[in-house]
Amino acid sequence: MAGSEFKLISQYFSRLTSQRDDVVLGIGDDCALLQPPAGKQLAVSIDTLVEGVHFFADVAPRALGYKSLAVNLSDLAAMGAAPAWFTLALTLPEYNPDWLQQFTDGLAAAAANSGIQLIGGDTTRGPLTISIQVHGYVDKGQALRRDGAGVGDKVYVSGTLGDAGAAVKHRLENWLPPALNDADWQFFQQRLEYPAPRLTLGQAISQYASAAIDISDGLSADLTHILERSGKGAVINIDRLPVSSALAKLPRDEALALALGAGDDYELCFTVPAAATDKLQQLDGTLTCIGEITAADRLQLTNDLGQEININAKKGYDHFSA
Ligand code: ADP
Ligand code: MG
Repeated sequence: MAGSEFKLISQYFSRLTSQRDDVVLGIGDDCALLQPPAGKQLAVSIDTLVEGVHFFADVAPRALGYKSLAVNLSDLAAMGAAPAWFTLALTLPEYNPDWLQQFTDGLAAAAANSGIQLIGGDTTRGPLTISIQVHGYVDKGQALRRDGAGVGDKVYVSGTLGDAGAAVKHRLENWLPPALNDADWQFFQQRLEYPAPRLTLGQAISQYASAAIDISDGLSADLTHILERSGKGAVINIDRLPVSSALAKLPRDEALALALGAGDDYELCFTVPAAATDKLQQLDGTLTCIGEITAADRLQLTNDLGQEININAKKGYDHFSA
C-alpha cells in the first residue's frame, strides 16, 4: 500500500498505541524496540482471520476488529500470560475510512483494560485478511502449557460451552429450533462475535493448574490436544458440561453435541491436581469440574449414572481435513 495511504490509515491506530514503559520505540520505524524486564519470559502467538473462512463476509467491521484481537488475547490467557504488545498485518481490498473507524473501534474494545499496545504491523491491498501477533509476559517457568496434565488431575472449564456454536449452526444450516426466542439468538450471536478472553482467570490459575488450553475448536478437540501433549486420557461426565440457560432449552443431545463439538467459545479448559482444587472457586465463580485425567490414551464420556456415552460430536474444525 502506498505510503500516503498508510498515513491516512495510521491515524485510526493512534488510540491503540498508548505508551507502555517497555516500548522503547513503537510504530513508525523499520522495527519496534522493546525492553522486556528481567526474569520474565515472552509468550508469543499469531492468528490470521480470512474472510469467508474465519468470518462471514457481512460481519460488522467492529465485531471483526474485536474478535481479531480477542482470539489472540485468548491464547495469552491460555498460557497464563499478561498481555503486552501486538502487531497487526492488515490486507484490505480498498481504503474505506468508515470501515477503518469501526474496525479500530472493535480493536480498541478488545484491547481495553488488557494493557496491550499496538507496536507495528504491515498494510497491504488484497482480499480482506487480518493477522495479529500478540506478546505477553509470564514469570519464568510459570506458563500454562498443554503437556503438564497428570493422572488424577481434575478437568475444569470456565463459563458455558456451545453458545457460539449455536450461532454458527443457525447461520450455516438455517437451523431454527422453536424453543429459542430472539433474546436467545442475540445471546448466541454476542458469544460468537464478542468472546471475552479469560485473561484474569488464566493468570490466576497459573500457580495451580498443570495444563491449559483455550476452547477455539470445541471442547473435545481442544481437550484432546492436552491429552495428546500430556500422554494421558480423560473421563468427562457429559451431565456436568456447563451450558447456558438458552442452550439448555434445546433437546439435550443437540445441546451436548454443541457443548462438546462446537468451537469459538474461547473459554479455558484446564487441569488441576486434586489437592489444589479447593483454591479454585474463590478465583472465579464460573468454573465447573467436568471430569478427571486418566492413564488411558483416549477421551471417554460418561453420564451421571456412570454409563459410557457415545456422542457423535463432530471433531473440532480442521482446515486441512478431507
Ligand atoms: P517498512 O517498509 O519498513 O516495512 P512500513 O511502511 O510497512 O515499513 O510501515 C511503517 C511503520 O508503520 C512501521 O513501523 C510499521 O510497523 C507500521 N505499520 C504498518 N502497517 C501497520 C498496521 N497495519 N498496524 C500497525 N502498524 C503498522
Ligand atoms: Mg523497513
